[in-house]
Amino acid sequence: MTVIDTATPAEAPAVRAGRLFVGGKWREASDGGRADVVAPATGRKLTDVAKATIQDVDDAVRAARAAFDSGIWSGLSGRERSRVLHRAHDLIRERAEELAYVESQDAGKPITFARVVDVEHSALQYEYAASLGQHLDGSVRETPGNTHAYVRREPLGVVAAITPFNFPLILSSTKIATALVAGNTVVHKPASDTPLTALLIAEILQEAGVPDGVFNVITGSGAQLGDHLVTHPDVDKVAFTGSTDVGAHVAELAGRSLRPVTAELGGNAANILFADADLDQALGAIIPAFVFNAGQFCMAGPRLLVERPLYDVVLGILADAVPGVPFGDITDPTTVIGPLASQNQLDKVSALVQAARDAGARVIAGGEKVDLDGGFYYRPTVLADVDNDNPAVAEEVFGPVLTVQPFDTEDEAVALANSTPFGLASGIQTSNLAKAHRVAAKLDAGITWVNGWALLDPSVPFGGVKKSGWGREYGPEALDSYLRSKSIVINLDEGAGR
Ligand code: NAP
Repeated sequence: MTVIDTATPAEAPAVRAGRLFVGGKWREASDGGRADVVAPATGRKLTDVAKATIQDVDDAVRAARAAFDSGIWSGLSGRERSRVLHRAHDLIRERAEELAYVESQDAGKPITFARVVDVEHSALQYEYAASLGQHLDGSVRETPGNTHAYVRREPLGVVAAITPFNFPLILSSTKIATALVAGNTVVHKPASDTPLTALLIAEILQEAGVPDGVFNVITGSGAQLGDHLVTHPDVDKVAFTGSTDVGAHVAELAGRSLRPVTAELGGNAANILFADADLDQALGAIIPAFVFNAGQFCMAGPRLLVERPLYDVVLGILADAVPGVPFGDITDPTTVIGPLASQNQLDKVSALVQAARDAGARVIAGGEKVDLDGGFYYRPTVLADVDNDNPAVAEEVFGPVLTVQPFDTEDEAVALANSTPFGLASGIQTSNLAKAHRVAAKLDAGITWVNGWALLDPSVPFGGVKKSGWGREYGPEALDSYLRSKSIVINLDEGAGR
């Protein structure tokens, strides 16, 4: 087996071995199958991991079910689980450099961002979820008559946590930490393109004291294993993040057995730049909103709507500024834009930009692949002269591509922003606070940022409307989706219960 071939600060045994984590034990796939993991920065094999089979899914779900039913985790108090998750948080911080390195190599992330975004936010998620463990109290209800009524908050059971390729650590942390603090057990299936940090998290959770079987990782193909996992009779909830198409498919399957699903899906957010904005500050939100993570983030801001008096000015600034954003070597701490995560992503983005040009888009910057060390690099790209039907506007590009459209009135800006089937994020750049509140209330999106972009905190709920999905992650709202309430009403009449 080829292992990560660049000098590494620490090669974790779990990543080296690339095995499944089932019932607290590391093991190969039942048929011995392996799948290659490719480094986006070089296009070469980084390592390989076990390719789980249906039997492995069954084993992982069985382990999670048995652990849940035994009460070894679900029977602890929230406070006890909280302590374990605080230890996990501490271990993530202790192993931050190793996690950042593996995430950077596996997903093609510039190392600085892997450190300050991916690992940092993963740690924050565990810390925040641990704090929620102190507040799992139920409630007492005032009922007429001689009864005592109270409501318990109970875990759901076995959670299938399925994540996409773009933020492996952060997106798994939101699910795993919240599911665990609520008392559930978890079977995690990371994306095939970026499975490595899930193995490190398994090691960390075990070391933190999560009992065997409570957390399980199966690496393998979603197309081959996904349907079986989400319809497994012993799975009680599906927590899915990924594309709208696969999310809708998962929700349909889970819906047949009335299994709860949270679905965090695609996005195509608009960023509205009003002429009264502080332009320097606004550009500090506009450019990162489409280049960060090479544009592969659900909450990216790939559609810039500019009030007409600023339209040509902004195009000129972007034409000058975007080519200068540090691009290339992901091990260089100054790099901002790395490669796309896979050949597939590179092909998709190239095809979409070509389709946008064919439909009349004018290229202001970028618009081409870059041949660099065999990696999957695409230049940050700005497109003007696009209408709502242009494919780069109408579809989720999921690459470092910005379209720029002018608007004349506030109502037109809102209509353009909302003219997409998606509704995950949105942004308003203005110095007029009254306008900011007014427009924010009209935008069809789960979150709106004013004078900034991607201002995230584990306490602030995040999720979509329309085709961006159901449910919320982050905040106490996320915890609610991993718990159910049980009402208990006791007859206090003399003699009752004897
Ligand atoms: P994807 O193709 O939908 O895959 C997501 C996950 O689902 C992967 O683990 C995949 O496994 C698995 N999967 C595939 N088929 C399945 C099936 N039939 N049943 C169950 N699971 C199945 O998404 P992606 O391309 O990795 O990620 C990009 C998408 O995610 C974008 O649309 C982006 O907007 C969205 N996203 C949304 C959020 C949010 O919070 N709203 C956050 C990040 C990303 P394999 O990898 O093995 O195929």
